[in-house]
Amino acid sequence: SLTLGIVGLPNVGKSTLFNALTSNNVLAANYPFATIEPNVGVVPLPEPRLDVLARMFDSARTVSATVSFVDIAGLVRGASVGQGRGNQFLANIREADAICQVIRVFDDPNVVHVDGKVDPSADIETINTELILADLQTVDKALPRLEKEARTRKEARPALDAVNAARAILDDGRTLFSAQSEVDVSLFRELSLLTVKPFLYVFNADEGVLSSESHRAELTELVAPAAAVFLDAKVEAELLELDDEEATRELLESIGQTEPGLYSLARAGFSTLGLQTYLTAGPKESRAWTIHRGWTAPQAAGVIHTDFERGFIKAEIVSYDDLVEAGSIAAAKSAGKVRMEGKDYVMADGDVVEFRFNV
Ligand code: GDP
Repeated sequence: SLTLGIVGLPNVGKSTLFNALTSNNVLAANYPFATIEPNVGVVPLPEPRLDVLARMFDSARTVSATVSFVDIAGLVRGASVGQGRGNQFLANIREADAICQVIRVFDDPNVVHVDGKVDPSADIETINTELILADLQTVDKALPRLEKEARTRKEARPALDAVNAARAILDDGRTLFSAQSEVDVSLFRELSLLTVKPFLYVFNADEGVLSSESHRAELTELVAPAAAVFLDAKVEAELLELDDEEATRELLESIGQTEPGLYSLARAGFSTLGLQTYLTAGPKESRAWTIHRGWTAPQAAGVIHTDFERGFIKAEIVSYDDLVEAGSIAAAKSAGKVRMEGKDYVMADGDVVEFRFNV
């Protein structure tokens, strides 16, 4: 499954956040026999629609979609030239499908900042610089070969041009993700450049920042088009220790929040990975299934079972909102809200599906 690699400078709260993610580990709770890698946190994607479906279909259980985070330690200034555990760090980050940067915006005189002061934009630049320098090294290593290929085969020319364009962007201090409209990165996918990966920013903030709309807007602007999530990692850890709903609500309220930050992190992570869900419902279970955005009905069926994809005939689909408005699947059918979709149908968020297939 796809993963987000968590990176950040030392002392920004990565371990605190990661511990919160792992104590929330759904694998531990739901799949006691699964092997849990110590550096992977698998968290449920909050999906309140499942509870509604479970009531409507009298389901015995609900199964959420999940999002996986990998803790990637070792980012320090100079990682791109092997400082710290630089090379291991780069290898680990290359394996992640998206990059989740943790940025410190909390003030605490007891927690030393590696560069002496809390400065989110400088920290982001430090991290991005290491990733950009690593990409420049990869590009410069590949260029002589690409140039040679382009001289002998003219089909190789577009790739060379794209890599040169990428080099200019990197040289300009920009990530390829932030400049995705300027260069076709699919022409040099085999280089596995780091800054091509989608970015997500987690601002580990204190109450002052969390409650200031203008401060949050400023930071959101700073990282656009990447998504920004705001949370207080220390409070997230505390929240997980409360098993009382009332106490949870009070603690959230005290920092001006309506839901745990891990929820927004899970949602933003899922979406940064380019994923979406569709829903199935029945007496056995109500369940959210993970697919890529843009997948067709047969591809979506294949997530349940490969036979479903191979033998796909059609999908009976009702949108969640229509189903809830009708009150039951039978009522939705008589209202003409249940559609028959064929093999070219592109799945939409909130589709409640029953597949018809040959075995
Ligand atoms: P890492 O080096 O990035 O993994 O950072 P840690 O998670 O180890 O955190 C470093 C220190 O900062 C620890 O003492 C944490 O308790 C503290 N810390 C982490 N998050 C917060 C936060 O949101 N607010 C405050 N005040 N302290 C935090």
